[in-house]
Formats: sequence, C-alpha cells, structure tokens
Amino acid sequence: MGKATGFMEIEREEAVQRDPLTRLSDWKEYSAPFSDEVMSRQGARCMDCGTPFCHIGMDINGATSGCPVYNLIPEWNDLVYKGKWKEALERLLSTNNFPEFTGRVCPAPCEGSCTVAISDPAVAIKNIEQAIIDKGFENGWITPRIPKKRTGKKVAIIGSGPAGMAAADQLNQAGHSVTVYERDDRAGGLLTYGIPNMKLDKEVVGRRIRLLEQEGVDFVLSTEVGKDISADALKEQYNSVILCTGAQKHRDLVIEGRDSQGVHYAMDYLKFATKSLLDSNFEDGNYIDAKGKDVIVIGGGDTGADCIATALRQGANSVVQFGKHPQLPTKRTASNMWPEFPQVFTLDYAHKEAKAKFGEDIRQYSIQTKKFVADETGKLKELHTVEMKKVQDENGMFVFEEIPGTEKVWPAQLVLIAIGFEGPEQPVLRQFGVDTFNRKVEAKYGDFRTNVKGVFAAGDSRRGQSLIVWAINEGREVAYAVDEYLMGSSLLPTVNAL
Ligand SMILES: Cc1cc2nc3c(=O)[nH]c(=O)nc-3n(C[C@H](O)[C@H](O)[C@H](O)COP(=O)(O)OP(=O)(O)OC[C@H]3O[C@@H](n4cnc5c(N)ncnc54)[C@H](O)[C@@H]3O)c2cc1C
Ligand code: SF4
Repeated sequence: MGKATGFMEIEREEAVQRDPLTRLSDWKEYSAPFSDEVMSRQGARCMDCGTPFCHIGMDINGATSGCPVYNLIPEWNDLVYKGKWKEALERLLSTNNFPEFTGRVCPAPCEGSCTVAISDPAVAIKNIEQAIIDKGFENGWITPRIPKKRTGKKVAIIGSGPAGMAAADQLNQAGHSVTVYERDDRAGGLLTYGIPNMKLDKEVVGRRIRLLEQEGVDFVLSTEVGKDISADALKEQYNSVILCTGAQKHRDLVIEGRDSQGVHYAMDYLKFATKSLLDSNFEDGNYIDAKGKDVIVIGGGDTGADCIATALRQGANSVVQFGKHPQLPTKRTASNMWPEFPQVFTLDYAHKEAKAKFGEDIRQYSIQTKKFVADETGKLKELHTVEMKKVQDENGMFVFEEIPGTEKVWPAQLVLIAIGFEGPEQPVLRQFGVDTFNRKVEAKYGDFRTNVKGVFAAGDSRRGQSLIVWAINEGREVAYAVDEYLMGSSLLPTVNAL
C-alpha cells in the first residue's frame, strides 16, 4: 500500500492548471506539467482499503461509479509512491490501452468512489494516471509491439474513436490483420474532432495512432462505409466486422426561428474549429467564428463547456450557457451518497476561464429557450426564454413547468445547440442489416454480436453517448469476443468472459 498513515497526514493536491486568463490566448492544454514529488505524495495517500471501490466500474443510480476499465489503482498508487514508475506503467497498461486520453479527460468516477473520499478529498487518481503514462512516453518506455505471428484472419473496424482504436489494438496484438475505416480525414473520432485541443492535445492522439500503425493497424481515412465502400464488400473481404461508429446523430431544438443564420450544432462548431486549427492554424477561415459576438450555448453538459472554452479563445463578446436543470448542491445529498458519482456543483475548465474573463459564473439554470428571432436579413439577433421549475404531476412523475412572468430576451448572434445526441446515425446500420433498439445497435454487452453473422458492435453505437473510458472497455471486450469467434478461444484479457 501507499504510506500507512498517508491518508491522515497528506492533503489532496492536484496538477497545477495554467492561469485561466493567460491560457485563453492559446490553444494549448490547460493543465501544467506534473511534479513527481506531488504525484508520489498523492500515491502515499492511498490506503489500499482492501475492497477498493475505485475500480468497481459499474452504474449506480444512472451514473458510473469506479473505473470502467478496472484500472489496478491501489497497485500503481503504491508503485508511484515508491518511485517505481516503470512497474506502475506496466500495471496501468495491463488494463487501459490509452491512459494518456483518460488521464487527461476522464471525469474520474474512480475518485468519487475512492474510500478516502468518504471523509476527505479523494486521492488524485486521474492525475497519477496521466503522470505515469506521460513519463512512459518521455522516457521512451513505450515502443511499438509488433506481433510475432499473424493468424491470417482479417477484421474491419468501422470508426476510429476510442472504441475502434482499443478493439484494433487488442485484435492486432492477437495477430489478426486489422483495418480501421474512418470517414473523417483524421483518425481518433471524438478524441480528435469533438474534444478541443486545450483539453486533449491532438498530438497526443496522433502519437497513439502512429504507434498503432507501426504495430500493424491499417487506417483507411476519408472513407465512409455505406457510401464509399459498401457493407456487402466489407462482409465479403473480412472475416469479421465491428461497428464502432459512435452516437453522433445531433439532437435538434425544433422551435420558431431555428433556421436563423447563426444557429449551429455544437458538434459542427467544435469540429470545424479543431480542423481549421490543425489544417492551417485558422488561416483558412473554415470555421464558425465567435469573435465579437454574443454567444449562447444551449445545453449544460461537457459539450457545452467545450463550446464555451472555444468561443472565449475566439474572442466572443459575451458567453452564456443555458441549462435545463437547477444548479447542483455544493455537497452530496442524502440521495447521492458514496460510492455514487458525486452530483455536486463544480467549475469545469471552461467555467473557470469564463469566470476569470467576465467575473462571474456564466451559467443560467432552469431555463428554456422558446424561440430564436432573426433580423430582416435572416441573421440571428435574439433569443426568448422562460424559467422553469420541476414539479410532480398527478402520477408522481417529475416534469418541468414554466414560471409565468419570467420571460426574457437575450441578444445573441451565435447560438450553439449542445443538448445531446439521438444515438448512432442509421444509414450504415441499415446497410449492414443490424437490428436496433432505442436507436442503438442491438448487441448484448459481453457478447457484442449483432443479429448479422460476423458483425459485432461496441462503444457509443451500442451503448449511446457515454465516456471514453467506457469506449475503451467495450473496445477491449469486443476484441475478446471477436477473437473467440474467429479462433474458437481467446487469450486476450477480459473481465467479462462469456
Ligand atoms: C464534445 C464532446 C466532448 C466530450 N468530452 C468527453 C470527455 O471530456 N471525457 C469523456 O470521457 N468523454 C467525453 N465525450 C464522450 C466521448 O468522446 C465518447 O463517449 C467516445 O468518443 C465514444 O467513442 P466511440 O469510439 O464509440 O465513438 P466516436 O468517438 O464517436 O467515434 C466514432 C467514429 O466513427 C466514425 N464513423 C461513423 N460512421 C462511419 C462510417 N459510416 N464510415 C466510417 N466512419 C464512420 C466517426 O466519424 C467517428 O470518427 C465527449 C463527447 C463530445 C461530443
Ligand atoms: S480511466 Fe477514469 S475512472 Fe479509470 S482510473 Fe483513470 S480517471 Fe479514474
């Protein structure tokens, strides 16, 4: 274990973040490099509690508790405390293909269920994870692992997000020839064209993709399955196909004035911004610009926060974020006890930046947009809203009800709709003939088979919009299922043996 009395003596410390106002002038990652000493002290706080909830990886009351890839957290906490970084890296990579992603952007459900967190702030698990993998790359400990033998079996993976990448990594290591098809011009899925650069540097994603290529994974980019190559062609050419197409069908806000110029989907906004940054450092002008505009982000989640951070860097005049729900409490309530994911008020990186710039939290709670209003040229000029309250209807169900007299008009020239997704895009699924349930691909977790022989599904396309760490979990697990399908048995690691 870490230091026996560490949890009593040492306070939680996190990686230092760059000054919010300074970092608004660039697109580099907002966190600063780690110090080994701080991480070692955090490792010392782990009490190796015997029944570590930090890696239970399960849904409790609709939210994830514990680490979904079952990272061996107490083990690597102890190794980091003792300065055994290389051994810590080996333990980390035994369960997580891409800790450099999760260490940066995972919401860390492990920390919510850390036993220290029953009474004190949790061990800084996520920071330790990032420190271990970053040190591994810096010291050259991570080198291509080229499989010694090939099985002669061919697998096609559709979609190069974290689920597709994790499945590709595992199946390649099992000796199969893996081709990943991606419709975008760069691989990575939402790691590349969703999460902005200041949260996850695209060079970190590119480094991992280059490593997979060196190990033998073939990425075919700018190729949309269903359009540029048919489902039948893939079924014929490959022994197995895995659908990792994500769940990126936009949810729209169909209200009056929706067609006003200046109302966009958040995902279009984020994708164009990152693409233009990577292609030309914004020289090409191929992005939606918030400069000088009053920006309203509709949707209180992470995608909305990423829009705020992007608009601030573009020089927006003002930014406001609308959320449907009331503000969360500052402490856990009786209905949200440990080890559940803490449903408490926090300031995300983007909210800290907005507060530093405008002097206050820019979030508006319990608010609903009623209509968009454009000027005579069709350009958006304002937004009309009303406040809402949660009430119980006659059946005891909670519903939102408008509060009369709370109508408000907001000036806005740019609105970003970030109210979630409706599941995977359907055309490619139809072409494969796979069954869907609630719009998601129907394939049981642990088995991952669709109704079509040899066709499997994993990640957000099967689960719905979720987390990177769940996508990695599903990529690893579907690889086991496919390997077993192809070879009769599998030596790949799995936590869900059939
Ligand atoms: C803006 C945003 C920010 C987020 N931030 C976080 C975060 O901070 N932390 C976190 O844990 N999670 C975050 N998430 C969620 C996380 O990114 C997803 O859960 C995860 O990426 C899902 O992985 P996936 O591989 O299943 O799908 P995706 O990452 O969606 O990848 C699917 C890929 O399939 C490709 N594709 C689809 N159809 C075809 C086709 N027919 N042919 C070829 N290619 C195709 C797509 O282009 C895409 O590249 C965020 C999501 C969004 C939208
Ligand atoms: S992947 Fe996420 S849940 Fe797992 S240890 Fe890392 S930060 Fe925690």
